[in-house]
Amino acid sequence: MSLYDVPITKLSGIGEKRAALFRKLGIVSVGDMITYYPRSYDNWSAVTAVADIEPDTVCVVKAKVATPVNNIRISGGRTMAKLSVCDDTGYLNLVFFNNKYISSMLRYGETYLFMGRVAYDKYGYQMVSPEFNKLSDSAIITPIYHLTAGLNNHMMIRAAKESLSMLPREMRDPLPDDIRNRYELCDLSFALNNVHFPVDLNAMERARHRLIFEELLMLNLGMRLTKSKSNEQTAMHFTADHTAEFIKNLPFTLTGAQQRAVDDCVRDMRDKPSPMNRLIQGDVGSGKTAVCAAICYHTVKNGCQAAFMAPTEILARQHYETFQRMFAHTDVCVELLTGSMTAAEKRKTRARVESGEIDIVVGTHALVSESTVFAKLGCAITDEQHRFGVAQRARLAAKGEHPHVLVLSATPIPRTLGLIIYGDLDITIIDELPPGRTEVDTYLIGTDKRERALGFLKQQVEEGRQCYIVCPLVEEGEGADELLNANDYAAELMLGAFRDISVGILHGKMKPKDKENVMAQFAANEISVLVSTTVVEVGVDVKNATVMMIENAERFGLSTLHQLRGRVGRGQYKSYCILVSDNQGENTEQRLGVMCRTNNGFEIADMDLKLRGPGDFFGNRQHGLPQLSIADFSDADTLAQSQEAAEYILRISPDLSGEALRPLRAKIRKLFETTENSMN
Ligand code: ADP
Ligand code: MG
Repeated sequence: MSLYDVPITKLSGIGEKRAALFRKLGIVSVGDMITYYPRSYDNWSAVTAVADIEPDTVCVVKAKVATPVNNIRISGGRTMAKLSVCDDTGYLNLVFFNNKYISSMLRYGETYLFMGRVAYDKYGYQMVSPEFNKLSDSAIITPIYHLTAGLNNHMMIRAAKESLSMLPREMRDPLPDDIRNRYELCDLSFALNNVHFPVDLNAMERARHRLIFEELLMLNLGMRLTKSKSNEQTAMHFTADHTAEFIKNLPFTLTGAQQRAVDDCVRDMRDKPSPMNRLIQGDVGSGKTAVCAAICYHTVKNGCQAAFMAPTEILARQHYETFQRMFAHTDVCVELLTGSMTAAEKRKTRARVESGEIDIVVGTHALVSESTVFAKLGCAITDEQHRFGVAQRARLAAKGEHPHVLVLSATPIPRTLGLIIYGDLDITIIDELPPGRTEVDTYLIGTDKRERALGFLKQQVEEGRQCYIVCPLVEEGEGADELLNANDYAAELMLGAFRDISVGILHGKMKPKDKENVMAQFAANEISVLVSTTVVEVGVDVKNATVMMIENAERFGLSTLHQLRGRVGRGQYKSYCILVSDNQGENTEQRLGVMCRTNNGFEIADMDLKLRGPGDFFGNRQHGLPQLSIADFSDADTLAQSQEAAEYILRISPDLSGEALRPLRAKIRKLFETTENSMN
């Protein structure tokens, strides 16, 4: 029987009530507890002599209780316990609040390890509420778990210990012996025991390394196995190159990078036995739309239809309008198909798609609905693909007989991550912006400077420019008090500082029609300042907008901030991004500092991945990536090794059917259970 089938309530001291708290952490079974790895460790081995203590650092001292515990009542009905401890080099005061058990836990004359932050005041050195361990039973390295209200670290430690004791003596290691030997990985039993309760630092590192390796390997194999089959044959070889005649009629000359992207696609569609399966990655504003348009034209002139799917109504409409302009001088028929159209409109458009009368259809996910049938779909394009699941992309492609597939992404993805997520795609990177762009200047300010910043916005508006202000929330009550919501913010501006300026509001809860109206007004410069939530993040293109001001900037991931900033600096005017934040959290300053330092999306993506991990980077689920329990993508070496191992394994057993791979295969299936990419 698997420990995943043993409920957590089998552990001593865990009844229904406490089990509900464990469930909050995703721990339902004993098996879950075993794979609920510590987020970090306390290392009790580096002992500092009392005389060497530096104030304001966390340190461990090994000291004897030198005075009885003195319990004192302080204000508010609270209690304080004070005592002194000493080693050979000096005395240290300890203070605990509201813990009446201290006198029974710390015995006069006995020696303990204490860990805590040391402060220095007129009474000397002092540690407030240190952790402590009796010398005899103290593990040198103790695990620290992510907690939830009602569960403390001691409970987690107890649950982990008992769970590990239930592991069978003989375990089948999911990593085959040859892989383990080749990469010098410890065995599963050692790894599980030492990841929770390492015997020393080295054991901890070996345990973690092995588990990370294993998880990345499973991720690699799982993604490869769920990938669309790229060995399909395609009957559509577009031998005639029609892109040049289209490009020459554009109002601008393509950049070198754009032209390369076009050429890559043309070559794929002409030469490859299997359909094109390409990702074009380019920073915001790099001109991916024009590349797509050329490819659509090329597809149509080769006798097929093209579909262009965008993640939002606004964006679909904007692409549609761009296409209408670009195709105005051609005989190509471009139409729009979105969810917000009336049933009758949709029916009509679908009929014309099915009859082949429409050559290019631009739309939202309405395109992949069952009722959309193409006469001859030759190329399926999805824009801003990280918003779509792998499955949705596949669903659009399934509308044709193995059509060519093109995916656009404005989210620069670190190479390491790209290899996993887009392992089956050929990649073109557009690393050049159209000429005439100026870098956006970015500033980080506190709320005390907001007044001044708004003055700056006003000045820009007076010069004829437009501004965005982004707030994290739509309305009150959605989050913590200190967060600004777009509705109140807009109201305040309209009544106050911006009463002579036209202010608009845009958020995801508005009806699509209303959103479009507001966007249209902004595009026409009837609205000067647009207060919005992140719905402006994707794609919207207003060249006259020069300021992007972002409130509670600490709330957004770097990639989102970068996307938002990409809304300005799209025209000839000098543009600015103002990040407003009072948050002095651990990473905040570092993260927001990156924004001020660089406009390079790839650099920002790398940093984002390092600081926040892939989970926050963009919804894992949407990418078909499972939730990881220990690995991240910051360790490039382990990632590369696991990739190599995945290839090695697949060479030997392309579908993982080999007997030695059974346990691994089962584990991979479990890992991917929660994603839309379920294996079968
Ligand atoms: P993105 O890659 O973010 O989708 P777009 O396709 O929206 O970028 O292009 C951004 C803007 O740059 C558009 O207004 C487009 O007309 C313009 N543009 C695209 N390519 C060029 C070019 N080669 N020269 C000048 N302007 C261009
Ligand atoms: Mg775009």
